[in-house]
Amino acid sequence: MSFARRAALTGGLLALGLVACHKVPYTGRRQLNLIPDSIMRGVGKSSYSSTLSSEKVEKKGADHDRLVKVGGKISKVADQPKYDWSFSMIDDDETINAWCLPGGYIAFYTGILPVLQNEAGMAFVMGHETAHATAHHGAERMSQQLTLIGGLAGLEIFMANATDLEPEKRAIILGALGLGAEVGILLPFSRTHESEADVIGMMYAAEAGYPPEESIALWDRMDMVASSNIPAFLSTHPSNDKRKANLKEWMPQARKKYDRHKQGGDTTEVVWPGLETSGGKKGRPR
Ligand SMILES: [Zn+2]
Repeated sequence: MSFARRAALTGGLLALGLVACHKVPYTGRRQLNLIPDSIMRGVGKSSYSSTLSSEKVEKKGADHDRLVKVGGKISKVADQPKYDWSFSMIDDDETINAWCLPGGYIAFYTGILPVLQNEAGMAFVMGHETAHATAHHGAERMSQQLTLIGGLAGLEIFMANATDLEPEKRAIILGALGLGAEVGILLPFSRTHESEADVIGMMYAAEAGYPPEESIALWDRMDMVASSNIPAFLSTHPSNDKRKANLKEWMPQARKKYDRHKQGGDTTEVVWPGLETSGGKKGRPR
């Protein structure tokens, strides 16, 4: 985008009172976000239904029930009164992935369950994905790409009908939301966003009553499956060693939260055994 166009766009949005400086929860990082959250929630809602329409979603069963249980706890802690929380378990053993769209639209693939291994692992990953939404990471990235999709008008069209947008523009939006691999546009979250989502995710899980140490154990297990097949587009991610070091730094704070809120029973008891160490799986949570 040229400087003149960027200035005009920002000026127009400022005139509408839409430019907001947000503060990210826990880390306190300030971010400039041009897109109102109401629009992002609308984009999340339409992206959710269009993405799920081509997947096999489990409507019942033990895995589904556990997802809803963990979802209830994480969503309570995330404290987003305007979110329309939804939790879908996608029956796809080949995909090691999970995501949360703005508005609280969450999906887990059955392929990730052996890596999560237990309820606390699921809570950390859900916290991490939820943090991408509540810390406005998609909106921050989309703010940089507004003109590519025709500005706010493009977003509004997308909201009205997820299919009523040219495929390339649709791909740009989904890419910014972290669904890029599904649609061919590869737009990984930055190292800053990933580290931030790890910290917030661990805090959410701890406050929901799950032991924060499980976040580090989870990345250890992720190492076991991912070392042989980390996709190239994840190359900008922090290494798992860096992620663990970052989590350890915040661990004392998380531990305090956990001590205040810990649940009865052992949430690290193995629920999903059978972690495979061979390659051949695609994706992983971003
Ligand atoms: Zn992530």
